Amino acid sequence: MTRTTPERPADVEALFPELSGHRRTGTRLHPRKGFAEPHQSSVAGPFLWPADEPWPVCRAVHEKGRGHLLTDVRLRRRIRDEAWRRDPRRGPSGKEAEVLDGLRESGLHVPELRTADPIPLLAAVQLFTRDVPDLIGPSGHDLLQVLWCPFEAHGPDRTMDVMLTWRRSEEVTEILTAIPEPTVVGRAECVPEPCVLDPEQVVEHESIELLSEESRQRIEAWEEELLDAAEERGTEREAGEEYELSYQGDLSIPPGWKVGGFATWGLTGPARIDCSCGSPMRPLLTVSDREWDGGSLSWVPLEDRETMRTAGASDPTGVYVGRGLMRVFTCPVDPSHPHRLNFQ
Ligand SMILES: [Zn+2]
Ligand SMILES: [Zn+2]
Repeated sequence: MTRTTPERPADVEALFPELSGHRRTGTRLHPRKGFAEPHQSSVAGPFLWPADEPWPVCRAVHEKGRGHLLTDVRLRRRIRDEAWRRDPRRGPSGKEAEVLDGLRESGLHVPELRTADPIPLLAAVQLFTRDVPDLIGPSGHDLLQVLWCPFEAHGPDRTMDVMLTWRRSEEVTEILTAIPEPTVVGRAECVPEPCVLDPEQVVEHESIELLSEESRQRIEAWEEELLDAAEERGTEREAGEEYELSYQGDLSIPPGWKVGGFATWGLTGPARIDCSCGSPMRPLLTVSDREWDGGSLSWVPLEDRETMRTAGASDPTGVYVGRGLMRVFTCPVDPSHPHRLNFQ
């Protein structure tokens, strides 16, 4: 299945020619629940990981035995998804509700696990450069594997910790099949659901806060004109059926998981992320809590239009980190320089 972003509702560079200087491509990943093969791009694996290479672990000092059992997180989601599939308007059946009630809450599940003990990282996303045109890594490497520790407990800001591995896929001959997993996760929303990907390259334009004052004023004036025109027409708006066109919501940056493109700065305002070598870094991977919301409906792919409002349609990965957005920034001068994370 392919995923197709609808044509933008207005030609932003025709309206504001200076924006051609603020254009970048990004690749929307379009994760959808499903099971991939190790030789395919996916969320949550299975990874093309060499059988003779140790699986990465988190050795950071933090509580590791307290949280949710990974098996419970998956069972809870499976029951919820099955109930939604049967009838999105009704909850789980009586028997399913009993199973859910029996699941253990967040708590101390593995008391013997000490704070400095290693725990396996979770396979988060693997991407082949052949699928993702904006994926640029160290020369000759065609596969990016992203793993993370499922505890928001690292560093002074107590965030997730993410590891990037670049490899040459042709060098992986024997594949690791028994992938180790942590028993306990800090938050259920740190666990990605298995998803297949349908990458699609799109054109983005810089976030409005980062445009010149003059551009911003012209864009805001244009948005007001649109509003006035809509009021004159006396358009009747049915809830959720129609919404105002805006630069930020429709013409700038698409929602959802993606590679490359620009970063949005809704929570903190624009920030500059610099590499240890001094270069301004770029967002390599954006991990988002949803593929669309009420303010970004024009980005919903054509193939999802009919089902866009069904339960669970907009958050196939189940991931919610930070306040909904995590970006992995890398160095454009040398992609092997250490990455940085930014949360919104
Ligand atoms: Zn950790
Ligand atoms: Zn650098």
